[in-house]
Amino acid sequence: MKKRTQQFFFEGNVPQDVSEMKIGFRIQRKLYEGKSPYQNIHVFDLYFYGKTLFLDKVLQTTEKDEFVYHEMLCQSPLFLHPQAKNILIIGGGDGGSLEEVLKHASVKQAVMVEIDKKVVEISKQYLPSISKNAFKDKRTTLLFEDGKEFVKNHYNEFDIIILDLSDPGGPAQDLISPSFYRDCKKALKKNGIVSVQSGSFTTQAKLVALIQKRLQKVFSHVEVRWAVVPSYQAGVYTFTMASDFNFKKVSQSVLVKKFRKAGRMKLKYWSPEIHRAAVVLPHYLASILR
Ligand code: SAM
Repeated sequence: MKKRTQQFFFEGNVPQDVSEMKIGFRIQRKLYEGKSPYQNIHVFDLYFYGKTLFLDKVLQTTEKDEFVYHEMLCQSPLFLHPQAKNILIIGGGDGGSLEEVLKHASVKQAVMVEIDKKVVEISKQYLPSISKNAFKDKRTTLLFEDGKEFVKNHYNEFDIIILDLSDPGGPAQDLISPSFYRDCKKALKKNGIVSVQSGSFTTQAKLVALIQKRLQKVFSHVEVRWAVVPSYQAGVYTFTMASDFNFKKVSQSVLVKKFRKAGRMKLKYWSPEIHRAAVVLPHYLASILR
């Protein structure tokens, strides 16, 4: 029995600050296992979540529930911004954020800066349902470089910056530093919005609070939203938005009107109602952010 379970069981890592936890996934098939200059890459077809990407054994995204994460990370800033045209995505190698951004007809250019070419290649090959046609879209510019360096050389260019990065550690190590957030602000146009995958309240509370504090040092308005991303098995997952534009003042009726106008846009998770509700935190979590 042990042998069989051993064969079909992949022990995923939980991001750094909860090493006492292990998460196991029963796998149907191993689709890819390899190393890039930056990280170990696995793709499995899991019994429950389907095709799933792991980087350094940390689950990144699954074809079954990627929509929760990518819609929460991307749709709030895209609907809140008055007229989002130029978007920068840093990371996002699976193409899920790019696909969300390109759903908006107002978007004229989506620049995706991903450090690891291999992640894009493997995601295109084994997880096409996540990026769909995003990489082929004529509005897409795909660059394989370090996002930290990229933002240093761009100024007053983007309406929205989406930080769809792996957890701090590895190639994403410095991409929660105050200087990086300052460089992001310089790369944004006036009143641009940055949207950050900011980890789990349940397993990385210190990280969530640290990212919020650092963004508050650079931007006038910062807000943490949450959703449960089932495959992360990390409880309450957070998405933090920051801007000098007071996006909190955008009325629900404006959001609803824009959402209705985007009528045919296929969203399975995000809505103006979810956007509003996702900012409400139970006391024990709100107190972490005070
Ligand atoms: N959903 C995932 C999460 O919540 O952790 C993120 C998914 S996406 C696959 C993370 C991407 O960030 C990876 O493809 C990784 O190569 C990329 N990345 C890490 N550090 C980077 C850097 N310095 N510049 C650009 N991309 C980076």
